Amino acid sequence: MDGNGNGEGKVYVGNINVSARKARKLLMSDLKLGKLVDWGTAFSLWPIHLTTSCCGCEFAAAWSPRYDNEQHGALPWIGPRQTNMIIIEGTVTKKMACAVRIVWEQMPQPKFAIAMGACALDGGIFYNSYNIVRPWQIVPVDVYIPGCPPRPESVAKSIIMLQKKIREKQVASKFVEEGWRPDKEYVIPKEDLCSWWRG
Ligand code: SF4
Repeated sequence: MDGNGNGEGKVYVGNINVSARKARKLLMSDLKLGKLVDWGTAFSLWPIHLTTSCCGCEFAAAWSPRYDNEQHGALPWIGPRQTNMIIIEGTVTKKMACAVRIVWEQMPQPKFAIAMGACALDGGIFYNSYNIVRPWQIVPVDVYIPGCPPRPESVAKSIIMLQKKIREKQVASKFVEEGWRPDKEYVIPKEDLCSWWRG
């Protein structure tokens, strides 16, 4: 219906949950607002500033004036409740895994994860160490960046790849429509990650 009250309108009555679902589908699929939501999300990625190890230097360099990752629409932020992306920067020890998971739980949906560095892929130089946890055991990882250390250009490339994924798979709009991410199963850690803190 236009602003003058002309045209066809839809009124949903009955069960509030069913009506809300139909209204979401109308907005996201039929009125094509989903494209706008995906586009807006892809260019509003705010990675949490949570450095786990030495890959953090490359993460910092990626947002330095020389590489300027802000030009891709990504801005590191410190508050987990205002961020929608986490970059796991290299090694995650068993003690750090608890902190990573707590931060992840606080981030609003839809949220994304990038694992950076050989250590995050498969332990890297610490591959056989007793105290290493792989990031995919803590959070659902969207993009992996190989290398030790990965160059800042790789970080930029990973953000571009994530943006492509969000827009092509309609991740954000599907989340608004369905209430969950169909492309990703939500990772629930098998063990209590904070048991190392409690002793
Ligand atoms: S991949 Fe290399 S630079 Fe990154 S955390 Fe591991 S050892 Fe450090």
